[in-house]
Amino acid sequence: MATTDPPVPGLAAAGYSILPSDAVSADDWRRAHDELVDHLRALIRIPSVNPPPEPGDGELRAARFVADLLGDAGVPSQILEPTPGRGSVVAHLHGDGSGGDPLLLLSHVDVVPAPGDGWTHDPFAADVADGYVWGRGAVDMKGMVALEVGVIRRLAAEARAAGRDPASDPIPGLSRDVLFAATADEEAGGLHGAGWIVDHRPELIQAAAALNECGGVSVAFADRRFYPIGVAEKGYANFRITVRGSWGHGSMPRPDNAAVRAAAIVGRLAEPGPTRLSPAMSRFFDLVADELGGPTGRLVRRIASPDPAESEAAIAAVCDDMYGRAARALLRDTASPNVIHAGVKYNVIPGSAEIEVDCRTLPGTDEAAMREELRRRIGDELWAHCDVVAFLTAPAVEASLDTDLYRILEATIRDHDPEGVPVPVMVPFATDAKHTVRLDVPTYGFSPLRLEPDERFLERFHGVDERVGLDALRFGLPVLYDAVRRFCG
Ligand SMILES: [Zn+2]
Repeated sequence: MATTDPPVPGLAAAGYSILPSDAVSADDWRRAHDELVDHLRALIRIPSVNPPPEPGDGELRAARFVADLLGDAGVPSQILEPTPGRGSVVAHLHGDGSGGDPLLLLSHVDVVPAPGDGWTHDPFAADVADGYVWGRGAVDMKGMVALEVGVIRRLAAEARAAGRDPASDPIPGLSRDVLFAATADEEAGGLHGAGWIVDHRPELIQAAAALNECGGVSVAFADRRFYPIGVAEKGYANFRITVRGSWGHGSMPRPDNAAVRAAAIVGRLAEPGPTRLSPAMSRFFDLVADELGGPTGRLVRRIASPDPAESEAAIAAVCDDMYGRAARALLRDTASPNVIHAGVKYNVIPGSAEIEVDCRTLPGTDEAAMREELRRRIGDELWAHCDVVAFLTAPAVEASLDTDLYRILEATIRDHDPEGVPVPVMVPFATDAKHTVRLDVPTYGFSPLRLEPDERFLERFHGVDERVGLDALRFGLPVLYDAVRRFCG
């Protein structure tokens, strides 16, 4: 860690601290890490499941717990509860105001359900075993809540040590304010959390930029350690397709059975569509290919080929199943038919069927364009028997790479892991960045963790045996602290 091993010894010897975290003692970092682990475990034990069971106030209890952690450090906060039991918590640290608009530390307190089947540890017990904290939310995203709380508490402690009141006085060395928001309802669209805040209390999170989940986590690939930083995320457009057919007696099959038509449509929807390279993924493949060089680098570059067959062959050659799925999803607008309903009785031919298809869109693909893509896949003949209605849509979001904050994130990763290679990336799913974009707050996925090379992090999201490594968290706290101090310094 930088405390004992400064990246440029000459400067450190001259008494010049390159990393703000160098100024914090190793003992203080150790204490902060132990606290962080305790906070994370306590958060996991609050089952803030979304959708909440009836009646459910898990998110509110999690938000109150976070508020207590901030209050304990002298930082006042506000609980927002637009819907009973659905709590978000926001707080505010002051800089001296000379450095521009604030930085927002964004996270969410809700988690997806965890039925417990197949888990080796109770998903809400927060066991510590084999070097991990286990449980639902360990990576998505109570680990990051605890990291962000850790940074706020550290900054507040520094204010108190300087004789200042972190509730009202500027934090020493901060020229921008730091905003904190841990929201409810991220896992179901954010209408009771970040979406509500944007619509009703935008001033609480209006910032120059935000740091959020989904990025800054190391990925081992071809003997290198990459740190994809989230700069974009795909949009979504969900469609309900009602397929019309003819009712009839099951004893005399008919080709216009709506279930038969729906089956054909589902097969066509599932065909992968054409590829298109977004700016973030273009940069991603270029940087990864340059770093790897040689035959593997050439293969990675081929993944970005406009020829889908060449791209697919390259994916098959260098990616395992998990990365292959991610790469395919990030190269195209996807359509996943996830719900099918048809039929009322075994001997009645259904005259109507319903399909719900989850489409994830690249930057530049709007709802109309996605609808057109569905029509192309389904084909005009079957399309003529369909009523297609969009529900729940949001465009893709992108943040610029050409910003001070992005450069600081890259540099901070390099300073803490000189062998690490930061690269920008798009993520295939949606986060609260869908809401912050409405306030023009560029939002970066940066929840820094350094993982063991064999860790299957992507599979932990919403998966069984969700867990986060203690060493990964130990790495992450000073990295996040340095990124905040550098941007706000
Ligand atoms: Zn999440």
